Amino acid sequence: MTDRMDDWEPLRRELDRWQAAGRVVRFWLRDDDAIEPTPALETLLALAGESRVPLTLAVIPGLTGEALAARLAAEAGVTVAVHGWSHTNHAGPEAKKQELGGERPADVVLGELREGLRLLERLHPARFQRLLVPPWNRIHAALIPALPGLGFAALSVYGRARQGGPMPLLNTHVDIIDWHGTRGGRGEAELVAELVAELHDRFAGNDEPIGVLTHHLVHDAAAWDFLSALFVMTGRHPAVRWSSASALLR
Ligand SMILES: [Zn+2]
Repeated sequence: MTDRMDDWEPLRRELDRWQAAGRVVRFWLRDDDAIEPTPALETLLALAGESRVPLTLAVIPGLTGEALAARLAAEAGVTVAVHGWSHTNHAGPEAKKQELGGERPADVVLGELREGLRLLERLHPARFQRLLVPPWNRIHAALIPALPGLGFAALSVYGRARQGGPMPLLNTHVDIIDWHGTRGGRGEAELVAELVAELHDRFAGNDEPIGVLTHHLVHDAAAWDFLSALFVMTGRHPAVRWSSASALLR
């Protein structure tokens, strides 16, 4: 067994290096699949709120409603983004899951996205951002040029951004869930190593913010513990600025 503090030491050292260099890294938090108020959502809101970490919730338009809107109405630190339409997999059994793929006519897919944007903008007028978060982080490339015409201002998927496409990207880079193993939180040492690798990349000149990706509905104790420890270490560190999606896209 390694000591838990040892697991976090590489991140502490790297952030102190940023501080010594007088630099500040931007982090942002994207949490996917919100539909309605749940105990897990309450845990997430409390955790982010305590550490003053702005939260971007990717909400599934076709499955959500007034209950989530009412719950979020008093949450100043929460931004709502569009998580596809109904999080339905339209890919074949052999293919990677996706809702926004090339299997269906583009006008059908785009029609759903237009409806999703309108619905969430109406439900969450004070916290809505015209940010599309494709389910499973996948979207058919041919659909992307049509997104500005639907009203979207940016796209958020997974992995380091290649800018210069038709849409600004605000991506996520570190996914705290072990989807192919336990389907719970990944190990702390491994996640810390990924964060440090992202920090090295940003220190070397890539100026995109580092996105942390969470899924509150499947968090086990390990996932909550990681998030909590991350917020404690970074929430007040002078080299870190947690930012809202709205601020980053401004
Ligand atoms: Zn999702």
